[in-house]
Amino acid sequence: MQKALPFGPWPTLGYVDSQLDRAAVRRIDPQFLDACAAQETCGFYLVGGEMVVLKRSGDGFYPMFSAREISALAPAAERVFLGLVRDAGRFGVALPHDAIETLKADERFHVTDLRSIAVQGLVPSDHLAPLAEAKALLHWHARRHFCSNCGHPTEVVQAGWRRDCTHCKAQHFPRTDPVVIMLAVSGDRCLLGRQSRFAPGMWSCLAGFVEPGETIEEAARRETLEEAGIRCGRVRYFASQPWPFPSSLMIGCHAEATSHDIVVDYDELEDARWFSREEAATMLMRTHPEGLGTPPPVAIAHHIIRAWVEKGDGVFT
Ligand SMILES: [Zn+2]
Repeated sequence: MQKALPFGPWPTLGYVDSQLDRAAVRRIDPQFLDACAAQETCGFYLVGGEMVVLKRSGDGFYPMFSAREISALAPAAERVFLGLVRDAGRFGVALPHDAIETLKADERFHVTDLRSIAVQGLVPSDHLAPLAEAKALLHWHARRHFCSNCGHPTEVVQAGWRRDCTHCKAQHFPRTDPVVIMLAVSGDRCLLGRQSRFAPGMWSCLAGFVEPGETIEEAARRETLEEAGIRCGRVRYFASQPWPFPSSLMIGCHAEATSHDIVVDYDELEDARWFSREEAATMLMRTHPEGLGTPPPVAIAHHIIRAWVEKGDGVFT
């Protein structure tokens, strides 16, 4: 495609560009953290499993609560220190399941999932990164109450950034699972796939977990071969995105396809096929004649596809 594309400004990716200073040296200073949490300027994000609690504010929603507000709600199951914004503390708080259910019925609050918050733009975008940090970290805590080495209880240390076994003293650290998400391209075509759980008409990049002992490039080639039967040569890193569902890091890449006949793995995908650059452009702009589309701009797949539509093979230079 030679003509200029009528895209607007580059959209904002979700859950990135955190404004937080993680202030890791403060994690071992309980006096500082307690004083920080007691300040009027301190903010708390409330998470319950997949759900986030927002408070209604005028015509919209706001995701951050004061210490006084949360003390009136429910005892926290867990509290973790996220960092500082201009010296004001930010914490993530896990509420137990029954407290979340109670808040769902309270009209002062809106309880919803973090994907919807990002896609619908329910809160100012600078809150998405700390919400992602809180959700991923609290999800890890909820499943690490017992030591994976000896089975005895673990306890929270370093303001939520480690759990120590009370018996064998093993130290457990929060995990981030690397996922490669790549667009295989060949000349004027790109490879997109569909999972059955996708919204109707949505096509996206292929993706999969990086396995132990594997490089990003090897994982991108392996996943593309396994899911669609396409071999790839050059792989170029594009950008990454925290993806707190539950705790992944999406590593976006472009891959140069060296074969062309697709063999779909129907255990992983509903379908996979080649799309022209022009067709991909209409999918990004939501003008495809059959209503096909890409993931929304909060997801890195949108950006990976757009970069190739705009730059072509320039993504490899
Ligand atoms: Zn242990």
